[in-house]
Amino acid sequence: MTAPLPGARTDPDVVRAFARDESSLLDAGTPRAVVSPANVAEVREVMRWASAERVPVLVRGAGTGLSGGALAVAGCVVLSTDRLTAVRELDPNDRVAVVEAGVVNAALNEQARAFGLMWAPDPSSWATSTVGGNVSTNAGGLRCLRYGATRANVLGLEVVLADGRVLNTGGRTVKRSAGYDLTQLLVGSEGTLAVVTAVVAKLLPLPPPQVTALATFGSTVDAAAAATAVMRSGCTATLLELIDAATVAAVDAFRGTGFGESVGAVLVAQVDDVAATAGLLDGVLREHGAVDVMTTADEAEGRELLDVRRAAYPAMQRIGRVLVEDVAVPVSRLAELIAAAETAAADHGLLIATVAHAGDGNAHPLLVVPPGADGEQRAWAAADAVFAAAQRLGGTVSGEHGIGRLKKRWLAQEVGETSLDVQRGLKNVFDPLNILNPGAVL
Ligand SMILES: Cc1cc2nc3c(=O)[nH]c(=O)nc-3n(C[C@H](O)[C@H](O)[C@H](O)COP(=O)(O)OP(=O)(O)OC[C@H]3O[C@@H](n4cnc5c(N)ncnc54)[C@H](O)[C@@H]3O)c2cc1C
Repeated sequence: MTAPLPGARTDPDVVRAFARDESSLLDAGTPRAVVSPANVAEVREVMRWASAERVPVLVRGAGTGLSGGALAVAGCVVLSTDRLTAVRELDPNDRVAVVEAGVVNAALNEQARAFGLMWAPDPSSWATSTVGGNVSTNAGGLRCLRYGATRANVLGLEVVLADGRVLNTGGRTVKRSAGYDLTQLLVGSEGTLAVVTAVVAKLLPLPPPQVTALATFGSTVDAAAAATAVMRSGCTATLLELIDAATVAAVDAFRGTGFGESVGAVLVAQVDDVAATAGLLDGVLREHGAVDVMTTADEAEGRELLDVRRAAYPAMQRIGRVLVEDVAVPVSRLAELIAAAETAAADHGLLIATVAHAGDGNAHPLLVVPPGADGEQRAWAAADAVFAAAQRLGGTVSGEHGIGRLKKRWLAQEVGETSLDVQRGLKNVFDPLNILNPGAVL
């Protein structure tokens, strides 16, 4: 006989609304209930109940994840962080914010901005995704080229363990070398080790005004080589984004941007508005094969140039159902990775458009699932070829989205059996009953 779970909502519409994330191709199971604890004490109560009843718990932020990490398993309880929304503290002297897990990235940044500060992680989902979700996936974004992914911007965590105990890790100092680094172990753990209830976020000064450059190239190979040259040049780019020909064509059709078929790839870069750096960027791009270069120091114009990159995903969604992939390779191998994606597209008869955070070698091949009974199978076969290429080139199957449920079968071939064994051991220490997001990651 199951004990009642305080605050549980079981209305089928509510339960369905909390059952899945933004990933495609995998179905979600039906949860038994959704709970939205309002504080740490209530989170502890949920976890104690789940441990006693041996019921799986899926922690959910905003559900914008793309790797199936927030797909419900049948009969689980979804623990939503939608009521854990307090910014407990924002200290401009220590440049630290202590925020609850359900605070939306944009809301934290809005508050930090008032002090001339920012929290650097800027996934394109920043307007809706949560700080807890960003931490749990080690989210990246455009400007993590300069400031690092979420991992580099977290000083400490408050988490509730599977058995209901509270664990505080790290703290509010920038430097710390005391014992094992549990904060960094928990970052990117995708709800499998603990419930993140609060984050000690490292804040940084807002960047100075930026110069934005958009350069067109005859081919992806040229654009990727130019990206490597920019990284070598000392420009210290804040962001450096590559858009391949297939994406440019889709954005042309979506936004009427008018690049045309002769454009083989586009690079968008931003650097600090300092004469030496801005001039250097323009020169490097032209020297390395750029056909046209548009440069602006105007903020609104810069946003427009960057919109070409931001339009990629909606432009591709108009074409069909999209499997968003997330692979990363050493920067110098990016052109080979994109070529491998083009080959996979031809081999399996589907469209793959690729956008990439070119400065850190992180590419997002966007696979359009072909219509027909074997469409998903062909998409997975093409994805498999792209993953194999990334690993062969010294890279990874996930730069920033995580393993979730979609990429589990590729984790083993990337990290090897010994690493998996150690990771399973860690999971067992944190969650011996295997109730936290069972079946995700490992
Ligand atoms: C349009 C779009 C653009 C995107 N752009 C980017 C991008 O540029 N870069 C990028 O890295 N990602 C991007 N993403 C993916 C996604 O937004 C990120 O992975 C984000 O960090 C997920 O946050 P969330 O609050 O939605 O988490 P959810 O999707 O709810 O959860 C993600 C994972 O974290 C776990 N989790 C969530 N909160 C907690 C918590 N408090 N404690 C423990 N576990 C938790 C969940 O169990 C799940 O495994 C994008 C997604 C979309 C839809």
